[in-house]
Amino acid sequence: MRIINGVKTIFGLLKGLWSMSPSEKSDFYKDKCEYYQGIVELSLVVACLTTICFLYSDYMINGSVLPTLIPRLSILAFIAVFFIVTGINGNARVMVVMDFFLGHGMVIAASWTAYKLVDNSNSVTGIIIVNLLWMVIGFVATPIDTLINGGVFIIEIIITNMFNHYTNYDVILSLEIPCIIGIVVVHYIMTAFYLDHYRVTQKLKLSMVTDPLTMVYNRHLLEKIISENSLKIQSPGEQIALAMLDIDDFKKINDENGHYTGDLTLYFLGQKLNTETHEDDYVIRYGGEEFVLILRNCSVDDAYARMEQFRADIEKAKDTPVPFTVSIGVAGYTGDYSDTLMKVDDALYKAKNTGKNKVVVS
Ligand code: GH3
Ligand code: MG
Ligand code: MG
Repeated sequence: MRIINGVKTIFGLLKGLWSMSPSEKSDFYKDKCEYYQGIVELSLVVACLTTICFLYSDYMINGSVLPTLIPRLSILAFIAVFFIVTGINGNARVMVVMDFFLGHGMVIAASWTAYKLVDNSNSVTGIIIVNLLWMVIGFVATPIDTLINGGVFIIEIIITNMFNHYTNYDVILSLEIPCIIGIVVVHYIMTAFYLDHYRVTQKLKLSMVTDPLTMVYNRHLLEKIISENSLKIQSPGEQIALAMLDIDDFKKINDENGHYTGDLTLYFLGQKLNTETHEDDYVIRYGGEEFVLILRNCSVDDAYARMEQFRADIEKAKDTPVPFTVSIGVAGYTGDYSDTLMKVDDALYKAKNTGKNKVVVS
């Protein structure tokens, strides 16, 4: 019964994996790689350094460490290349390729060593042990990567056999194929299990920047944008405008209709702003009844026109919980969000002090 439930769970998760869009899938594998890379990298480097200790067993076979000294130490060159390349480019995909590079570095160093041993009958053990490396790298790779790597490894065994003449060549090949199939299947299942973790993390990340009442972004996102100055102008001609919007006499709305109606009004405004803005714009609840809009690909003049239309729509709207109006301040992005926010705040202040229910450009 437990096995049947387990199989059902795995198929449910696999369905989730299969139904992902290509961009979601690529983000998923990137996330998985970033999550496991530290431990995979550490395990690989420790495994590589451990192979140097095998000089002792080489001594037991050859009666000297000299013939296998350079082949064994050659792993240090692979480790150095690994750190140089991953230091220059920390991209998730580069990391996966370099993890495989290090794994194959170990295979090359071991094959070279086997060539220098008077008796290489232990190679079968070494080759089967290498599967532990593919198992570890599977945590950051995709199942397809693991499958391709399995093919490359078999080719490597065939090529190295040309000069190493493994005593158990047939046994090595017949054991290696089921090993690779097993690793791919296990990793497919483990990847599907990671999906659960991925979905929870995504929800958590989104909930951290979402306002629970209005369901638009909250101030955390704006702080992040300001502290990282992350929303840069992407193309030379692009213009970004900011708007700050505040409900007029909201205290009175609360006092006359109750806090609950006030909440409904905030929710209504948040949703209306979300539907009236473009996909790459940001709608942020800045404070109690204040919202900040980041309008991408939008000049100050366009922002004014769009906000004026929005203000008029709200004034005329028949589907609001209670009739209300808004005042709006608009400014062009100066290259610095803190500075631009001060400008829109000034413009909003002017709108409030000159009669409310209007849009003012800074
Ligand atoms: P002004 O036109 O100058 O903006 O006046 P105002 O009354 O809108 O502004 P004021 O700053 O005096 O009052 C804002 C009110 O917003 C006070 C506060 O109780 C209310 N408020 C803040 N957050 C919430 C909320 O989450 N829900 C509700 N219902 N009210 C809130
Ligand atoms: Mg107000
Ligand atoms: Mg206010």
